[in-house]
Amino acid sequence: MAGKMNEAFIAGREVIEQGEVATYIPELGKANKNDLGICIKTLDGKVFTEGDYQKRFTIQSISKVISLSAAIQICGYDKVFSKVGMEPSGESFNSLVELDLRKNLPFNPMINSGALTTASLLVPYMTFEDMLDYTKKVCMDEDITMNDEVYRSEMKNSSRNRAIAYLLESKGIIENGVDRSLMLYTKMCSMSVTAESLANFALLLANDGVSPVDNKRLIDSRNVQVLKTIMLTCGMYDGSGEFAVKVGLPSKSGVGGGLMSVCDKEAGIGIYGPSLDGKGNSIAGCKILEVLSNKMDLHLFSRTKMDTE
Ligand code: GLU
Repeated sequence: MAGKMNEAFIAGREVIEQGEVATYIPELGKANKNDLGICIKTLDGKVFTEGDYQKRFTIQSISKVISLSAAIQICGYDKVFSKVGMEPSGESFNSLVELDLRKNLPFNPMINSGALTTASLLVPYMTFEDMLDYTKKVCMDEDITMNDEVYRSEMKNSSRNRAIAYLLESKGIIENGVDRSLMLYTKMCSMSVTAESLANFALLLANDGVSPVDNKRLIDSRNVQVLKTIMLTCGMYDGSGEFAVKVGLPSKSGVGGGLMSVCDKEAGIGIYGPSLDGKGNSIAGCKILEVLSNKMDLHLFSRTKMDTE
C-alpha cells in the first residue's frame, strides 16, 4: 500500500504545474502551489501519510458536506430536500444562470447556491460555534479554528455569493436572512483543517457514521448514505461525472486545495494540494486518486478488498 501511495503521490506532483491556486478569494492566492500532502486511514487502524498532510488550509467547499449532514439531522430530510435538489448541475460551483432561468431550487447542496440554502436552514438552530464543534467532532480534530484572514478576504469579495443568496431569497428558498446565511456559510468555508482531518471525516463516512475511535454513532446511517451518494454524483463540481468514471469514490473538493474520498467500509483519504484545475479541483489530488484507484482497484464498481500490505 505505502509503495502504491508513493507512486500516486509522485504522479500527482508531476501535474502541479498545470494548475493554479485560487485567487478570486485573495487570501487563498497566498497558498504555496507546490504543497502536497496525503493521509489515508483504514478501519483496521493503519495510517499512511506523505508530504504536507499536517499543514492547515481552509476547508472551503468540503464544509458543504458537514452543513448538509447537520441540516438533515436537525431539520429532517424532507425539509432539506424541499429547498435544495439532488442533481448534478453541470455548471461551475458559483453559477447562478441555471438557478435564475430554469430551476427554482438549487441543483444540489454541494454547489454554492445549495450550501447557502443549507446554511440558511441551520441559522435558527446553530451558531457558527456550534457548527465548529460539530466539525471538530466529525473530523476528530480539536485544533480546527476559523481562519480570520480568509474569512474577511472572502466576505470582502462575496458579491457573487451575495447575489446568489438574494436570488434565493427572492424565490422564497432562503428564509432566514441573506446576511446571516452568508455569514454562517463563509465562516464554515474558512475553517482550517489538514489532510488528516479530512481523512478522519472520510473514515467516519466509510464506517457508516460510527466513530472508529470510540464506536459512538455521530451521524445516522441513512444520512451517511445520502451524503456519500451526493458526494459521488455532485462532489467534484462540474467535473463530477468524469471523476466518478475515472476514480469511482464518493469525494468532495474545495478551492482551498482540500479533497476527501471515501473507500466505503475500508478507509478515508484526505489530500491537500492547492494547485487547482479549471473546475476548481486539486489537480494533483485528482491525479493521485486516479492513480491510486487504478492501482488498488478502489473504484466502487470494480474493486475487490483493499490490499494494505
Ligand atoms: N468559499 C468558497 C466560495 O463560496 C467555496 C468555494 C469552493 O470551495 O467551491 O466561493
